[in-house]
Amino acid sequence: MSIPFNRPHMTGKELWYIAQAHHNGQLAGDGPFTKRCHAWLERRTSAKKALLTHSCTGALEMSAILAGIDAGDEVIMPSFTFVSTANAFVLRGATPVFVDIRPDTLNIDETKIEAAITPRTKAIAVVHYAGVGCEMDVIMEIAGRHGLMVIEDAAQGLMARYKGRALGSFGELSAFSFHETKNIVSGEGGALIINDPQFVERAEVIREKGTNRSQFFRGQVDKYTWVDVGSSYLPGELIAAFLWAQLEEATPITTQRIRLWERYHEAFAEIEASDLVRRPIVPAHCEHNAHMYYLLLPNLPARTAFIDSLKAKGVHSVFHYVPLHSAPAGLKYGRVSGSMLQTDNLSDRLVRLPMWNDLGSDQDKVIEATLAAARSARQ
Ligand SMILES: *Cc1c(COP(=O)(O)O)cnc(C)c1O
Repeated sequence: MSIPFNRPHMTGKELWYIAQAHHNGQLAGDGPFTKRCHAWLERRTSAKKALLTHSCTGALEMSAILAGIDAGDEVIMPSFTFVSTANAFVLRGATPVFVDIRPDTLNIDETKIEAAITPRTKAIAVVHYAGVGCEMDVIMEIAGRHGLMVIEDAAQGLMARYKGRALGSFGELSAFSFHETKNIVSGEGGALIINDPQFVERAEVIREKGTNRSQFFRGQVDKYTWVDVGSSYLPGELIAAFLWAQLEEATPITTQRIRLWERYHEAFAEIEASDLVRRPIVPAHCEHNAHMYYLLLPNLPARTAFIDSLKAKGVHSVFHYVPLHSAPAGLKYGRVSGSMLQTDNLSDRLVRLPMWNDLGSDQDKVIEATLAAARSARQ
């Protein structure tokens, strides 16, 4: 049997909490489990407000509405990211302006942001790749000086920190993902983190189909009605019950992933020393969450040979992303600012190894296959 690239970890309490939600008889959103998840996320990120959403994609869409992104506006972002970072803004008629990434962390190159700013720029959307923080000090300073909003796509960043501060706590708005490929999961799921209090009330309305239902349930208004644009962004209570079982275990889950990550990292030091691969780089001021373990091969043919070689040994590895600036929709809706040299080069060379909590002794097989594949990919 081959070793999968990902397998969601279960804490064991998911079904118990789902049974409780079932027993409570409330299946729609914003029940007791949702409230527990909100409180946990607010503590973790020191957010003004956290709101569960059906996905990180949904939370990013809410962010774009809240940020007042309109037709003709521009949003600066990396091209090396998942499509939702861009789509959320394209849906509002805005143009994603792609900036190159840093060769060390593969995060947006903060030194290239300022050159991408035009009178149409409204926001900077940063992505904390692999749960390693972007250079938030510099980015927040640039945004402040130009009056731009910062939205963090922290889909991969739960439990990680930059200079001691939780990822997701820097931008006016941030988005987490609980998709089953992330560290803490609910199948599909996400959260909007609101750090700027001026967005709290409108966020609740947008999430509840454009109605003031949340205020109604708190007894702040005596009837609820259509007050703004909106959609249905909240998950049902069964998803929140599942998620609660995971959030409760967020620390041990992260510790275990870090153990696996470090084991890979040590095992691959020798093939990095012989220039066969490059290992991930985590700056000293970034506390990561071991969301993924990737290697950079020397070039595209070497990566293809590497993946094939692992596959022949029963190890499933994957690559991503097709840079958004060169994807069909990216060509249609976005534009680049400056050179995309690092993005093009690094995205051709990256490969992700199996990384999941219960990998256990299969990790030995992955390591052995990787050492052999890296050596033969070079021939
Ligand atoms: C996973 C991911 C998303 C999308 O998350 P969903 O919860 O599946 O919508 C967005 N951005 C990044 C960087 C991701 O890794």
